[in-house]
Amino acid sequence: MTSVELNKTTLPSVDDLQARAREALAAIFERPVDTELGEPGGPGVHASTPITGEALFTLVETTAQEARAAITAAAEAFTVWRTTPAPVRGALVARLGELLIEHKEDLACLVTIEAGKITSEALGEVQEMIDVCQFAVGLSRQLYGRTIASERPGHRLMETWHPLGVVGVITAFNFPVAVWAWNSAIALVCGDTVVWKPSELTPLTAMACQALLERAARDVDAPPALSHLLLGGRDIGEQLVDDPRVALVSATGSVRMGQQVGPRVAQRFGKVLLELGGNNAAIVTPSADLDLAVRGIVFAAAGTAGQRCTTLRRVIAHTSVADTLIERIAGAYRSLPVGDPSTDGTLVGPLIHETAYRDMVGALEQARADGGEITGGERVDVGGDAGAGAFYVNPAVVRMPSQTPIVHDETFAPILYVVTYETLEEAIALNNAVPQGLSSAIFTTDIREAERFMAADGSDCGIANVNIGTSGAEIGGAFGGEKQTGGGRESGSDSWKAYMRRATNTVNYSSELPLAQGVKFG
Ligand code: NAD
Repeated sequence: MTSVELNKTTLPSVDDLQARAREALAAIFERPVDTELGEPGGPGVHASTPITGEALFTLVETTAQEARAAITAAAEAFTVWRTTPAPVRGALVARLGELLIEHKEDLACLVTIEAGKITSEALGEVQEMIDVCQFAVGLSRQLYGRTIASERPGHRLMETWHPLGVVGVITAFNFPVAVWAWNSAIALVCGDTVVWKPSELTPLTAMACQALLERAARDVDAPPALSHLLLGGRDIGEQLVDDPRVALVSATGSVRMGQQVGPRVAQRFGKVLLELGGNNAAIVTPSADLDLAVRGIVFAAAGTAGQRCTTLRRVIAHTSVADTLIERIAGAYRSLPVGDPSTDGTLVGPLIHETAYRDMVGALEQARADGGEITGGERVDVGGDAGAGAFYVNPAVVRMPSQTPIVHDETFAPILYVVTYETLEEAIALNNAVPQGLSSAIFTTDIREAERFMAADGSDCGIANVNIGTSGAEIGGAFGGEKQTGGGRESGSDSWKAYMRRATNTVNYSSELPLAQGVKFG
């Protein structure tokens, strides 16, 4: 890719970004945080920013011994928390939600600095945390099981739900705070305790979340050891994976990570909840409202610089609309402001690091070799020398002759492949032809096509939308996907059941002892 100068803006200085992060953290911790934030460059966990590609601070890394101690403390706290009434547990999460409202801007500022999200999306991510806290508070009074008709007279058959234990949460860089909240808010009202290993790329936001939860626990007199933070890389995550005291490992990240974590947790018969990569498609039919489709597609494909698990990566367009659609998407892409994500008006921030940029270049080279026609995708020179270590790109739209192997990969960058179809059966087959199964959409005004897409032989994804894009899910539904996406469900609906264990109870309140299935014994 050639480097071009577009939407040139001035990037903030590293001093400015450090000052912003310090200020946000101090507001959240209610004190200066100088002891926590070491000079950049020393040994430890490196907090850096994709805005300029520079290191900001060095933080103390959690040792293996400290990680073990955290799991021990969480296991001990569980013995108290599991018998604390669920609505009382809900009061902790209610307080956390209030603190998140109070510190929404502070936390969003840290998300922008560490993950490079534009301010509006960073605020949206914190709003998602607030929403899931409110959902979890309601849930704390609704953890109900069923009563089932018994086949025996004088008997009651029922199911009860009980807390599971310590939940190990492993999270990815691109949703540095919301995914922790999805897991923690629900796990805590379910009576579990939490040990969190965030992405090594977003340690500041993690410290901030942990501080808010500790404050909430103090405010409502909940045990302080309910929640722990482990700062470090994969090794520390592996301790959660292998420790038999961790009842559930909820891991969000790449398929590669899931392939390592899943079998290891299964080996010790632990429970696992996997939220892995996606390769999400939208079908655009001849009857689609193209204005709506273009808006939905551009947000889903270029938002968060293509770094959402639900990012739209493929458009499957009917041959009759493909040319117009590509032209309109490419036109919209040309007007998207790329640059400093903390500046008003920017819609596309940076890629997370150089490797992400190299992956994008490699994928585009392969697509071109496969016959793809590429529009966009150039590196954008933002801020001259100041931005030398930062990677800003124009989103790319690539018309492909077919879904070649590169289209089957999740390249975590803003590349939108477009392929064409003739029949709806063909379009659905293309939608389902990739190994991942997270999100999907159809743009149509034909109810038959919409229903067919959502039917048992339609989209095979965990999310199947009509006339909206693939990203931006609400917390009220269960979130997750099939196939290599891992099969987990988080957030709303009945996802809480993954954080609890179920007991079936049969109570005999008669003076007889009839056996099930009419069995006679003596
Ligand atoms: P990643 O897989 O590189 O890292 C994710 C987390 O896993 C990090 O905390 C990392 O330290 C940890 N990790 C990696 N290997 C591990 C191991 N063997 N044992 C224990 N922990 C390990 O992912 P990333 O680059 O941070 O995030 C991007 C990926 O995450 C994309 O594939 C994206 O689609 C996916 N993602 C999925 C969802 C979802 O809900 N399905 C949400 C967000 C991101």
